[in-house]
Amino acid sequence: MSEVQKIDYTIGKKIRESLQADCQSCFGLCCTALNIAASSDFAINKAAGTPCPNLQSDFSCQIHSTLRDQGFKGCTVFDCLGAGQKVSQTTFHGQDWRQSPEISEKMFRVFPIMEQLYEMIAYVAEALSYKVDSSLFNKLHIQLEQLQRATELEADALLAIDIPNFRLPVNGLLLETSEQIRQSLIEKINGKNSRKYDYRGVDWMGKNLKGKDLRATDLRGSYLIAANLQNADLRNVDFIGADLRDTNLRGADLSSSMFLTQMQINSAQGNLQTKLPSHLKRPSHWVE
Ligand code: SF4
Repeated sequence: MSEVQKIDYTIGKKIRESLQADCQSCFGLCCTALNIAASSDFAINKAAGTPCPNLQSDFSCQIHSTLRDQGFKGCTVFDCLGAGQKVSQTTFHGQDWRQSPEISEKMFRVFPIMEQLYEMIAYVAEALSYKVDSSLFNKLHIQLEQLQRATELEADALLAIDIPNFRLPVNGLLLETSEQIRQSLIEKINGKNSRKYDYRGVDWMGKNLKGKDLRATDLRGSYLIAANLQNADLRNVDFIGADLRDTNLRGADLSSSMFLTQMQINSAQGNLQTKLPSHLKRPSHWVE
């Protein structure tokens, strides 16, 4: 068991902000390893392990600047958080699957596992940036170290990881974090006017919530497809697993929204007035 950690809420923030994809250091793994069915997000069917026809010999995308116009919106949404370069440069020591085809099958199977480890690291690192109590902080720290150690394993050991078993304690800790942080805000903002805060899994597809004060609401796993959240106050809202495809976030305040990912933001609609947490980038298609 690790020692009790000195509380430093900046560590988690720094780790979370450092989790960025570096496509130059990756061998096009998201364009090759994954199975993708044709839909409004991806114009063609592509089997796992088969390179996308738009992937060039240098692993860049031939249609990078026109992905959305050509029916590949999903490619502008996807974010591996750095799992691709980790598999390419650390697990497989910079070996390229085109030059060394004998490693390709294993490399493509390792990628989705690394991707899930990175997703969990991102959530746990974010949780460590909140002012949680010392007991929870230490549990999160131990969990983060365990996940980071897993990313350093050899390919065969990575393939043997039982991901659902990893997810279980992570989910419990994220839930505890969400409840501690939101509860402290709820006590501050509630006064005499109590309202409902638990909307876990709610179906608000297409709902008009323009300008609403939804601070500290639990929207875990909610369906917000094409909902109108323009100018809404979404600080400390827990968005873990929420579906934000085409959600209108123009002018909304998400500056301290919890467990929001770059993929969720990339799939939504926003503008220059939308306030985002520091670890997320404004998507290039938010042009207004
Ligand atoms: S269209 Fe481009 S970004 Fe999308 S999977 Fe194919 S090569 Fe990759």
